[in-house]
Amino acid sequence: MKSNITSEKVKQIVLDCGGDLAGIASTKTLNAFPPDPRWPQTPERMTPDAKSVIVIGLRVPVAGFRAREPEPYQMMNMMNNRRLDKIARKVSEVLEKQGYFGLVMNNNSTDWRLKSGTYGHLSLRHLAVEAGMGTLGLGVNFMCVEYGPRVNLAVVITDARLEPGTPLTEQLCVGEGCSRCLYACPTDSVLHFHIDKRGCSTKAQVTGFYGAADIFDKFLHADDDGRKEILKSNTLMKYWQGLTRVWGCFGTCPRCTAVCPVGDDYHAHLADDQKVIPETTPERVAKGKEYQSARRAGDEVPGLSDWNIRWVGPDGYNGKAAKEQRKKFRAQKEAE
Ligand code: SF4
Ligand code: SF4
Repeated sequence: MKSNITSEKVKQIVLDCGGDLAGIASTKTLNAFPPDPRWPQTPERMTPDAKSVIVIGLRVPVAGFRAREPEPYQMMNMMNNRRLDKIARKVSEVLEKQGYFGLVMNNNSTDWRLKSGTYGHLSLRHLAVEAGMGTLGLGVNFMCVEYGPRVNLAVVITDARLEPGTPLTEQLCVGEGCSRCLYACPTDSVLHFHIDKRGCSTKAQVTGFYGAADIFDKFLHADDDGRKEILKSNTLMKYWQGLTRVWGCFGTCPRCTAVCPVGDDYHAHLADDQKVIPETTPERVAKGKEYQSARRAGDEVPGLSDWNIRWVGPDGYNGKAAKEQRKKFRAQKEAE
């Protein structure tokens, strides 16, 4: 028998299961506003019975961002994602006990039919925005007031009819005048509220599908000596770690998230450490300025089009949400 379930109860279930943030989006809205209508990442494609999508956020501990080598961050991020999977599964179990289904979709699902396998079945970042949990940043990272972009997401699709959250209209990303993520990006993949996915994947998915295909391709075309080199290489070792622990398959580059000044965790633990961005170059600064001028001039920017602006924050940046959150955070700290 179905219990009488509400959004508030479901959000509490998420927190009780170990999530840091919870939000609800309606499948109706999600089906009507797929991030890219040419490749619809919609819940109705998963199951026609879906009524709501529960979005779960788990913050990434700050320690990894303070490491001098990327590996400790990569390991922490991988563990965080595994934990998130377990939390989402627990939420699904609790829902089932209450008479509803809960279909878990994690952040490394890929639908081969959508844009040559570069899209997941659902875009979790867009779902989180629709649930009112945050907005997208300059490089389309999802960010929230609490942890900036240092948060991983999972979703549970359910047949429970739940009151959805209201998307924020304020842009949480400081925007072109900040551009710190753009300065820090080793592959120059942060675009104007857009991302060069292929470029980013060379650093952020080192043992992802394209990395794996690349090593096989090189092995097939190498001579005997070349093959021996590949068999002894660090790249193969990384690929092995990817196979055994999903290490390196996604989220392996911390730079755009480490330097983002949005979030209480940044101010508490990262501001001093990440103040200087060693990767900054005059070219990157010029690119940020170019984006700023384009926005001010009202130029056509695809990432800010009428369709895409709903996920960036149609009212633009005014800093109000960040100020409110800082106040709340300080009050919490004083009360502890
Ligand atoms: S994850 Fe790394 S490579 Fe990808 S956009 Fe961010 S900084 Fe650039
Ligand atoms: S670093 Fe600055 S520009 Fe980049 S996402 Fe964060 S707030 Fe936005």
